[in-house]
Amino acid sequence: MIVIMLGAPGTGKGTIAGILSKKLGIPQVSTGDIFRKNISEKTELGRLAESYISKGKLVPDDVTVKLVEDRLKADDAKKGVILDGFPRTVAQAESLDEILSISNNKVDITINLTTPEEEIIERVVNRRVCPKCKRIYNLVLNPPVQEGVCDDCGSILEARADDNEETIKSRLQTYFEQTSPLVDYYEKKGNLYSATVSQSINKMGPDVARDIIAYLEEEK
Ligand code: AMP
Repeated sequence: MIVIMLGAPGTGKGTIAGILSKKLGIPQVSTGDIFRKNISEKTELGRLAESYISKGKLVPDDVTVKLVEDRLKADDAKKGVILDGFPRTVAQAESLDEILSISNNKVDITINLTTPEEEIIERVVNRRVCPKCKRIYNLVLNPPVQEGVCDDCGSILEARADDNEETIKSRLQTYFEQTSPLVDYYEKKGNLYSATVSQSINKMGPDVARDIIAYLEEEK
């Protein structure tokens, strides 16, 4: 099963992808995590990616598509994947369709998450991530039991370098200009599931994930 997580930064794609990954037994493939790993390992790809990520811009399509194409060939991806943060442009979506069609595969569902913009900025600046197990926390909405420490694996939590007020504004602009046309792209294909993740309507990531799982079970 191929699942795409679509949505602006800070809408909860990573949190929901993590829950779905455990439930569906298929890996979560986050292009952002792959880039960050390369940045921390100081690889050539990491240096290139950092120059875009630090400005809130997208890493070029050819580099990103190649990365995903290779990742999809791994053994653990044979049963499917949850693509978290890919595609982010129409060109990436078209390349993905081509890559999948070679193995007679296709995107099964695209989950489009929306969150009011004022909540996004607050969430992003309060986000902390576990560098080891990748669990995501929010200092206000979903803090760890012990301050600064991951509940699951005990690692020291970190803030992402691009989770600051200045970069998030540029990331949001990039989203609206380059990624939001994908909502239409997948709606036309008839596989779009939209959900609002918002405190104001009391729908947080885990509730939304439950709704998505119920929807997928109904669709079976
Ligand atoms: P994320 O962890 O998904 O928020 O991604 C962090 C950053 O990595 C983004 O702001 C982009 O600079 C870059 N990135 C992640 N996924 C992609 C993609 N599919 N295409 C281009 N750049 C990406």
